[in-house]
Amino acid sequence: MIALIVHGGAGKIEEKEEARRGIEKTLIKGWEILAKNGKAIDAVCTAVCELEDNPVFNAGTGSVLNLLFEVEMDASIMTSEGHFGACGAIKNIKNPILVARKIMEETDHLLLVGEGANMFAKAMGFSEYNPKTEKEIEKLKKLIEKGENFYFPNFKKLIELYKNLKKEEKYGTVGACALDYYGVIAVATSTGGIRGKLPGRIGDSAIIGAGTYATPLAGVSATGHGESIVKNFVAKEVCELAKNYDIQTAINIVMEELKKKNCLCGVIGLDIKGNIGHGYTTKDMAWGFIKDGKMIVF
Ligand code: ASP
Repeated sequence: MIALIVHGGAGKIEEKEEARRGIEKTLIKGWEILAKNGKAIDAVCTAVCELEDNPVFNAGTGSVLNLLFEVEMDASIMTSEGHFGACGAIKNIKNPILVARKIMEETDHLLLVGEGANMFAKAMGFSEYNPKTEKEIEKLKKLIEKGENFYFPNFKKLIELYKNLKKEEKYGTVGACALDYYGVIAVATSTGGIRGKLPGRIGDSAIIGAGTYATPLAGVSATGHGESIVKNFVAKEVCELAKNYDIQTAINIVMEELKKKNCLCGVIGLDIKGNIGHGYTTKDMAWGFIKDGKMIVF
């Protein structure tokens, strides 16, 4: 049994048709690898690169900007064999997920952040790339003008404090979980974070057990409000429950709990039997899967 499920972020989806087309294209690319008995890790990396390269999604090109109008991205990858790699607050890279994979495969470290992550990427031969889009510049300007940010009650004060540091003038992480022909599960997650975040902020997408987790039984990628996801260790929590329940039931249980705590998030997951599952406490989530030759897109 092989299976692939991907997400393009939870929250309000502004460009629904573009997002649907992006998810569909991503599923087809990832599936091509799994169907030829390729590895789950290659399938999730291909899927996440496709989503990172699509400006509709908040990862790679089209990432949201921090309060200084910079792109700082987080990404992580994990396999059911227990391997994990992540980068946080990395800049000027086209595909942070590939840097996370290199950290997993080429070092004994789990997480590299900021300048150190960029230095590593350079050493590994990644070229510089500007993932900033005009559209995101406009969106952040508007948010600053409005002076309100759902996730920071003290946003106005932070704008004042950071305004002289300014150098220049979405909800929507992306993720993928795959089960391959060899019974290995891989999970990859990548994000630009939260629009208007403070420079240096790292969310759940770089944290093991929060935005990304895999065990020999299940794999989960999360999206949504990073701080709440980290506090609740959402991906790990679902994987723990998947020891006793199928993945959809495990996700349902965790989502019910998170709703009570007002945690705004979404998850996708699959288990070793090839069951897939998804859930969200937000208004919407972009997601889709392929299994048994059948493709479903949200
Ligand atoms: N979880 C991401 C973060 O907080 C944002 C998202 O999923 O859109 O960094």
